[in-house]
Amino acid sequence: MKLSIDLSHRYACMRAHTATHLLHAELTKIFPQTKQAGSYVGPDELRFDFFAERGLTSEELDSITAQVNHIISANEKVSVQEMPYDQALKTGAKAFFEDSYPEIVRVVSVGYQGNTSYSVELCGGTHVAETGQIGAFVIIEQGAVAAGVKRITALTGPKVAAYVGQLQSQIDGLAHKVGVPTKQLEAKIEKILAESDEMSTKIEQLSAGLIKSIIWKPGQIESVSCDAIWSYEDDIALLGLSFADAVNNIKSVAQDRSWLMVSATGQYALSHKQAKVIVKELGLKGGGSDTFVQGKDENIVKSVQLKV
Ligand SMILES: [Zn+2]
Repeated sequence: MKLSIDLSHRYACMRAHTATHLLHAELTKIFPQTKQAGSYVGPDELRFDFFAERGLTSEELDSITAQVNHIISANEKVSVQEMPYDQALKTGAKAFFEDSYPEIVRVVSVGYQGNTSYSVELCGGTHVAETGQIGAFVIIEQGAVAAGVKRITALTGPKVAAYVGQLQSQIDGLAHKVGVPTKQLEAKIEKILAESDEMSTKIEQLSAGLIKSIIWKPGQIESVSCDAIWSYEDDIALLGLSFADAVNNIKSVAQDRSWLMVSATGQYALSHKQAKVIVKELGLKGGGSDTFVQGKDENIVKSVQLKV
């Protein structure tokens, strides 16, 4: 039997796994009581699950990324020592207390911070000899796995450069789409959003004006004379009126009208439930079938029909 190791795969896993130690050390600074809830290490990619009641803010994520990259640039030594379990715990090494350990354990330390190591963990995994070999570290996603368990996904080594390159292409593509150099993209997006708000306001004003001037008018439907007819046609729906807008408009017109008929067509036809809401909103008493609702206004003692 012949066994061989795929060295490039192995180094990529070493980079990602050692970065997991650095990430764990930084998370402990923010959540001193946190514990690892799970971990995945692949070639230059890692997922780290940990117990926390809240997610990390973008400032905290930036700070973790900066700190981990700082330790990488400092090229700190990663040392491995074997010692009795009790002694290892005295060094402050992070351990999974629910796991059972042998009498002699493997303690992995990274660099020094004052008198103590930057990170100390009981670990049987594979590590780089110096942090500089990790190359670079970037967090690409933060999520939640379950209640109280958060997940961070990150990349190391050459995958960081590939990821940054991909992001840069996406940003350049967006800038090209809106016709500005990449450096002006943020200003352009702000301008587009402001213009969009302005247009929405104009459309709302236009819609309201159209309803008052065109839609509400006296007329006759099926031989019944009406003071106002509301016709919910397709073009009105295209203006983006909601059902609530329609009800409010009916209310404003119906105040001193003796007759009111509402007609709706095509896919915008009102359901019986919606018609009942109109009847209720207008303060009418009445009922009807799925296609026709009529009500009576007790105050002005005149019947009102809503045809739907
Ligand atoms: Zn390890």
